[in-house]
Amino acid sequence: MSGTGFTELRLDRVSRSFAGRDALAELTLTIRKGEFIALLGPSGCGKSTALNCLAGLLPLSRGSIWRDDVRLDTVPPERRGFGMVFQNYALFPHLSVRRNIAFGLQMRRVARAEARRRVDAAIRLVHLEEHAGKLPGQLSGGQQQRVAIARAVVLEPSLVLMDEPLSNLDAKLRLEMRTEIRRLHQTLGLTTVYVTHDQEEALSLADRLVVLRDGEVQQVGTPEEVHTAPVNRHVAAFMGYRNLLPLRAAGGAGAGIRVEGDGISLVGTPVGTVAPGTGVLAAARPEDLRIAADGVPAVVEVVEYQGREVAVEARTDAGTPLFLRSAERPAPGDRIHVTAAPDRLLVFPGEPG
Ligand code: ATP
Repeated sequence: MSGTGFTELRLDRVSRSFAGRDALAELTLTIRKGEFIALLGPSGCGKSTALNCLAGLLPLSRGSIWRDDVRLDTVPPERRGFGMVFQNYALFPHLSVRRNIAFGLQMRRVARAEARRRVDAAIRLVHLEEHAGKLPGQLSGGQQQRVAIARAVVLEPSLVLMDEPLSNLDAKLRLEMRTEIRRLHQTLGLTTVYVTHDQEEALSLADRLVVLRDGEVQQVGTPEEVHTAPVNRHVAAFMGYRNLLPLRAAGGAGAGIRVEGDGISLVGTPVGTVAPGTGVLAAARPEDLRIAADGVPAVVEVVEYQGREVAVEARTDAGTPLFLRSAERPAPGDRIHVTAAPDRLLVFPGEPG
């Protein structure tokens, strides 16, 4: 199955407001054929609004959408040739798996033999051969979600849009279906836009992530870029930098900068321009802080078993919580010293908000 031919899909300052307030502001993005894009951000950041604008379910307030040289935002949804997979599978309960998958082809009056061939192929792709005659009510959540995916891809869409498709599934199924979605994307050469609030899901699935906050794009980048080099404190906080320490920049220290305050003194890497003497936010992930002979003194409060390592929550004498991972197993009440690798402690300037 191959999608309708196009080279790129371009969103140019796509905006949508409700009651005079932007739910999505100026989203500019070029999606290349074959890419897997994740729209990521907390609840209410505008992810679904962006997807619905792309699908044509919501008219734009400003901006435009282009498929190569064809303007798309004025084309009705059913003529855009996109496939959609929602969180609530939206299957027809009275139709069998096979007939659910065939439905869209019938609507498009695809010849019967051709339709049968494509439905068979789609059923095989999502491994539902044994369930093809069942009704959705006789299937597990994961199987129903597979039907929803097969129903979308059987139409050979030029773009597949998925809105939190795995959020109704339990943790184990979510992991399985995640692999399945990535496999289908690759096997079928799909172009996919995937909405999620789960950063792990986005990092593992996508070629590029678009991180949104309050309707505004914060960062567009590969999983590695967003994971290791968040551009601001909001992206850092969202990407698991649990240690967010309001400190003061003391001055240069080799390639890095020393940051201090409340009994803490560490060396980090500035993100942007950080002037000595100004307030900063130093950010680190738990896995980038460690127990050392020398460092910030703190007392262990909570130790959680996490397989090979333990997760430790400690508190400095001034009351600042520190979250770290450790191969050693300290006990609550132990006095430890905590340090960070300078390249993994990101120092953000005192930006507003
Ligand atoms: P969630 O993960 O909770 O679905 P989201 O990131 O998908 O969140 P959107 O559904 O895009 O967020 O909503 C973005 C903002 O727009 C929110 O503040 C929301 O309240 C508002 N909004 C969305 N749809 C409407 C609507 N039909 N009328 C008014 N406001 C809306």
